[in-house]
Amino acid sequence: MRYISTRGGVAPVGFAEALMMGLGTDGGLLVPEHLPTLAAERLRAWSGLSFQALALEVMTPFVGDEIPRDDLARLIERSYAGFSHPEVTPLRRVPEGGGERIYLELFHGPTAAFKDVALQLLGNLFEFLLERDGGRLNILGATSGDTGSAAIYGVRGKPRINIFILHPKGRVSPVQERQMTTVLDANVHNVAVRGTFDDCQHLVKTLFRDLDFKARHSLGAVNSINWLRILAQTVYYFYAWGRISGGDPARRVSFAVPTGNFGDVFAGWLARRMGLPVERLVIATNRNDILTRFVATGTYAKGEVFHTLSPAMDIQVASNFERYLYYLLGQDPAAVRAKLTDLEQTGQLAVEPAQHAQVQADFAATAVSDAETLAQIRRTFDASGYILCPHTAVGAAASRDRPDAVVLATAHPAKFNEAVREAIGREAPPPPALAGLMDKPVRCAELDASDAALRAHIDSTLDRA
Ligand SMILES: *Cc1c(COP(=O)(O)O)cnc(C)c1O
Repeated sequence: MRYISTRGGVAPVGFAEALMMGLGTDGGLLVPEHLPTLAAERLRAWSGLSFQALALEVMTPFVGDEIPRDDLARLIERSYAGFSHPEVTPLRRVPEGGGERIYLELFHGPTAAFKDVALQLLGNLFEFLLERDGGRLNILGATSGDTGSAAIYGVRGKPRINIFILHPKGRVSPVQERQMTTVLDANVHNVAVRGTFDDCQHLVKTLFRDLDFKARHSLGAVNSINWLRILAQTVYYFYAWGRISGGDPARRVSFAVPTGNFGDVFAGWLARRMGLPVERLVIATNRNDILTRFVATGTYAKGEVFHTLSPAMDIQVASNFERYLYYLLGQDPAAVRAKLTDLEQTGQLAVEPAQHAQVQADFAATAVSDAETLAQIRRTFDASGYILCPHTAVGAAASRDRPDAVVLATAHPAKFNEAVREAIGREAPPPPALAGLMDKPVRCAELDASDAALRAHIDSTLDRA
């Protein structure tokens, strides 16, 4: 399989190169040249597979012959061995509203949020390719919460990789901060920046624009636009469908997906496009509702960013949206570039009526307020004793009119106990991944929000390594 850019400026590259490139060198997002489609017999045959065996089948056409099947199988095994549930992403049936609601639990990985599903595998693939082809990788990223710890856990202890993660000092939740700073492996370098999340992001962008520095240190990113993140996340849609349908291709399943960067829900769209019998994909947003407005009106218009109880979804411009736009506009890079120019110049882009009709056929969408989020946590707890994280609660609340939709449970509630306490007056007990976190030793550098200070810190750290 070869990969091209949504903006048309990247000559086709193989899977490994696409993986290492992350963002396209033309600023676009990488997509496969063709999307494989699956016959009903394949779906039926796959429906009884373990998560790991299914991951191997789903990913093989996208990887092609670049990684031998045995190696890929081994990397997949290793990536999910650290999950605390034998099914990796189990379904949980919960009594609710007189019926039963199904939650797809994606939080059994080492940082208790769904980003582990992709980032554990991405780390192992990076290591495999660096060892095979020679080379080193120094990852630099900024985080306001979940992504940083999942990225750190994805690469900790890997000899050819260093990771530098910046977070705004004192402005991430105590659990999230500890999840990052208690990882003491020699290749993990946390930096608390005396500033805001925007300062952190600005520093990262500044260093990436310094092409000399970037090349000298083999700087790379782990962000939500790496193709592997989408690919790894399609697997659990297949898994959930197989467990619910028993392999019957006539059985269609709906999903409600808490959404920020449009990554998870795009993975569901991709699974459907490959032939998975998906009935409805519900985009669930919090008050940051750019995607909900887009589905309602056909216009994608930037707004202001609000802080909510579901902070991992406090995003206005969804970085994976460009992939969907590419397919919506008939895989025409010139059309994508024109729409992105509109967005840049006017703060919004609009699609044609026929395309808008397609959007509404692809997705339903609902925005959920903080009050509704808390009410949902309370309602589910009262009905069953099951505790939802606020992001998952947004998914459940957004699909109350479709109780048959499987809700993606994106984080363990104990990561967001402030919201949980506010909703039900008690906290969720910590899963194994979070137990004892506040008592462990920490290691973290502290810097001013200055690119000179960050350059010097990276230089001296890598000189010592
Ligand atoms: C990142 C995250 C989301 C949003 O996922 P996207 O892929 O950005 O749409 C939702 N819930 C939690 C807990 C997250 O960490």
